[in-house]
Amino acid sequence: MNYNNFINKDFRSRTQAEPQQRHPALRWGLLGAGFAVIGVVLANTGSNEDEPISIAQSDVIQNIDTAITNAQTATSSIKLKLPVPSQYNDAVIEKITETEAIIESTIETDRRETTNTLAEIDNPKWQSLKIKSGDSLSVLFDRANIKPAQLHALMQLGKATSELKRIHPGDSIKVMSDDDGQLLALNYQIDGIRYLQVERDENAQLTANIFKHHIEVRNAYASGEIESSLFLASAKAGLSQNTTMELANVFGWDIDFALDIRKGDKFTVIYEQRFKNGVKIKDGNILAAEFINQGKTFRALRYTDPVTNYTGYYSPSGHSLRKAFLRSPVKFSRISSRFTTKRYHPILHRFRSHKGVDYASGRGTPIRASGDGKVIYKGNKGGYGRTVIIKHGSRYTTLYAHMNSYNRKIRSGKRVKQGQVIGYVGSSGLASGPHLHYEFRVNGVHRNPLTVKFPSTKPIPKRYRDNFELTTRGYVAQLDVLSRSTLALNDN
Ligand SMILES: [Zn+2]
Repeated sequence: MNYNNFINKDFRSRTQAEPQQRHPALRWGLLGAGFAVIGVVLANTGSNEDEPISIAQSDVIQNIDTAITNAQTATSSIKLKLPVPSQYNDAVIEKITETEAIIESTIETDRRETTNTLAEIDNPKWQSLKIKSGDSLSVLFDRANIKPAQLHALMQLGKATSELKRIHPGDSIKVMSDDDGQLLALNYQIDGIRYLQVERDENAQLTANIFKHHIEVRNAYASGEIESSLFLASAKAGLSQNTTMELANVFGWDIDFALDIRKGDKFTVIYEQRFKNGVKIKDGNILAAEFINQGKTFRALRYTDPVTNYTGYYSPSGHSLRKAFLRSPVKFSRISSRFTTKRYHPILHRFRSHKGVDYASGRGTPIRASGDGKVIYKGNKGGYGRTVIIKHGSRYTTLYAHMNSYNRKIRSGKRVKQGQVIGYVGSSGLASGPHLHYEFRVNGVHRNPLTVKFPSTKPIPKRYRDNFELTTRGYVAQLDVLSRSTLALNDN
């Protein structure tokens, strides 16, 4: 599904004006670009004509603009000074402060190194040379009126300048030269972390060095209360869109962010921020989070298994926040057609794909929900016939087609449990005989239900419970403190 929609959603209009919405979860905005996680649940299934799209693109953009402005003004207010809970001897907070001090001192030194030397060059004039397809260094130098001999001298500097042999179209090189076409300085970003710096020293000799930008991870905190939408509240709290989506993903198995969010819901997030040379470049992972939805508190702690290196989000009791899937939704069946993409049909002379698995089974065989979730579609769907679509968490959907009939208790918008019978095998729609056509999508993309890797749902193994508690204890304490300060703020 497109997260932008529910993040932007004004739930009041839903609860007050459209209580009878038939497929509420299908109301998706259009804006996808720029979002790290995009899933389109029903994009390819054909008969989507009855699904209203409620958010115009311009609205979304406007909301983002407002949100960005809000975020900028609100940033200072979200960086809470946390009282260190004495009983926990909060190692995390102390560690952060220590790292910050180190970073700042290193950056200081670095800046002095580069700026001082460059300042000594008279009449400096940086030129930015953009590399186009077919360009070579000699072409670039010629364009910048630098003598060819300078390039030769540059390439004699050894390993550092050999990085220049790997320039790509789209890269840019900054050069500084004098009126005689002599190279004075050169700067080239090798990658996100390293850059090449060439300078002419006091003896008029070119020297080349590769420096590293300081990419440093610091922890940040944000708390907010939902007034009209999660998107606005999180932007106001200073969270980026990506972090907001990640927050929705983390809790997506327990909270339906399209329908369950209410005014007064609260969240607290402890997350990483990445800094390059002291300047924030982007947000990193969510380390811990709390979401209070309709009075019910959910907590998530990020933990990496020290042996398998699997990283997941767990409740403080060590249970995975993700829920499991059954591999097959029908018992007593045989697979009559497998998952294929782009299969060449020898008779039709066309490429045909089958983006699901067919289970041939007797008419009336029960079909079970393959995982806990919420029914987001129940009805006739063109060639699919009688179809049920279930959303699991925020990234997964499953589709069950050609049903003979539905389980009467199944309704769009209602939750189902794994293994619950949702309908019965039939041949409605375009089907030659009774079978279940089953599809599994991850972020809107069809995956082979027989081979797709299911999210790990195992609790933290007993032997790592101590380690889990030790590594997350600080975050739990911080959530306690942050949660309390949000409540205190609201009381005033
Ligand atoms: Zn099929």
